[in-house]
Amino acid sequence: MYHRLFATLLLLTITHAAWADTMLIYAGKLLAIPGQGVKSEQTILVEGDRIIAVRDGYADAGEFDGDVTVIDLKDKFVLPGLMDMHVHLQIELGPKNDSEALKMSVQQIEMRSIMFARRTLLAGFTTVRDAGSSPQEMYALRDGINNGWADGPRIIAAGGVGITGGHGDISGVSPQLMKLFTSENVCDGPYDCRRATRNVIKYGADWIKIASTGGVMTDRATGTGQQMEMDELKEIVLAAKRMGRKVASHAHQEDGIVAALEAGVASIEHGSYTGPKAIKLFKKTGAYLVPTLLAGTTVANMARTTDFMSDAIKEKAITTEAAMKGNFYKSYRGGVKIAYGTDSGVSQHGNNAQEAVLMVKAGMPPMEVIKSATVNAADLLDMSSTIGTLEAGKHADIIAVAHSPLEDISTLLDVGFVMKGGKIYKQ
Ligand SMILES: [Zn+2]
Repeated sequence: MYHRLFATLLLLTITHAAWADTMLIYAGKLLAIPGQGVKSEQTILVEGDRIIAVRDGYADAGEFDGDVTVIDLKDKFVLPGLMDMHVHLQIELGPKNDSEALKMSVQQIEMRSIMFARRTLLAGFTTVRDAGSSPQEMYALRDGINNGWADGPRIIAAGGVGITGGHGDISGVSPQLMKLFTSENVCDGPYDCRRATRNVIKYGADWIKIASTGGVMTDRATGTGQQMEMDELKEIVLAAKRMGRKVASHAHQEDGIVAALEAGVASIEHGSYTGPKAIKLFKKTGAYLVPTLLAGTTVANMARTTDFMSDAIKEKAITTEAAMKGNFYKSYRGGVKIAYGTDSGVSQHGNNAQEAVLMVKAGMPPMEVIKSATVNAADLLDMSSTIGTLEAGKHADIIAVAHSPLEDISTLLDVGFVMKGGKIYKQ
């Protein structure tokens, strides 16, 4: 009796499986779990938006009923969709874009961000964390993509909380314009910052983004050292935690990195002047460093070759870049967990893989770089059960390149196949 019931249930399951559309992806080389080995001649079975199995050999389409689609990537290197933990989908820095942006309506900026999102996805980045854009437009883009209204990566949206005159506040325009554009999420003192944090969550943030130190692109000579006070940092982290949100902190100088880590942030963005004291704290807290080497290189090149930046910005750009590169490698060697992030929007959208090239150049092994953009990023987002590797039960976020990125990391600059959630966007 029980056996018969079991058999019936099994039959129902099989029948259901047979009716659903199945995709068989033949992978010549497969890096299913970055950090582990590469396997040859594998089949990834995809049903709907999920991976249902990964098998040795090329599975015969004849063994499946219903519609079976075979995707032949026998001469490709297949890996999980890449993840960028630091993008700004509403902006793209540069002499032309900067002046154009001032003339654009928020609606036009939103339309343009749809294009940037698509570019990012087609470059092989299936998940990104937007580290701060105009909030409602950012949430609308996230939700629109999730609803299938636009093509783009899965967006984890970080709402910004900043202090008056700090890196998160508006700068570099007339006082009248500054007044007009000052966000209600600019706060001073612990209680005000508690309010701002709750407010950001109320309107749709998945994460909180703060700046514990000054920033390169703030148009004031206020340096890159600590700006937020300890009571503000602690209060933001606590208010966020109470509502199930993690905090990412932009930080350049070591005093601000240490303060943010002591307050309990989950990631430090840039971390340009990470030194021994900060490395110790990174390891103690388990926080991730998101290095954004590409941003450092991009702004330093702009400072040297163009004239659109103010002197205050130029000076910071050149000194920060030099520190960033050396300290990134020291952090990695010192045992700091690294999650991949580009600060795209400072650099051009769609060039996200350039960060991988810079990371390898700085001394990080290619496998570790790929791990930082998959397994580690998923861990930082608390999404390891659904993304980051190609295993049964996970979202079918799959990309393919022509050659092994373990031998030549620059092959990631040219992603030929992109699938997100079982849907093919590029082939
Ligand atoms: Zn940024």
